[in-house]
Amino acid sequence: MYKLSVEEKFSAAHQLTNYKGPCENLHGHTWKVRITVEGAELDQSGMLLDFRVLKSHLKKIHNEFDHTFLNNLVPFSPTSENLSKYIFEKMDKDLPKQVTLKEITVWESETSCATYYV
Ligand SMILES: [Zn+2]
Repeated sequence: MYKLSVEEKFSAAHQLTNYKGPCENLHGHTWKVRITVEGAELDQSGMLLDFRVLKSHLKKIHNEFDHTFLNNLVPFSPTSENLSKYIFEKMDKDLPKQVTLKEITVWESETSCATYYV
């Protein structure tokens, strides 16, 4: 089996709900998202999937979220955990057939991330 991962960043603001602490106040992050897929069969060029194709899928998340206020876009508190599941479910619907989505990791800082996987 092979696993491939690509990463993308976006800048966005959020405000945690049902939470007491500094992060209930409006603030922003440069978020990083990593998508990891797996598969067994390489194509004639020796690739599981062209990285460019995988990046183009993740770019849709960048385009949806970059320079936005996340609370206006999603019907849940925009934590790293909730965003990773949301992105997973969105990506799972339209990836090429030769790969299976394994996990989505969302960083809200260089040292803090959450991963959603099944
Ligand atoms: Zn935050």
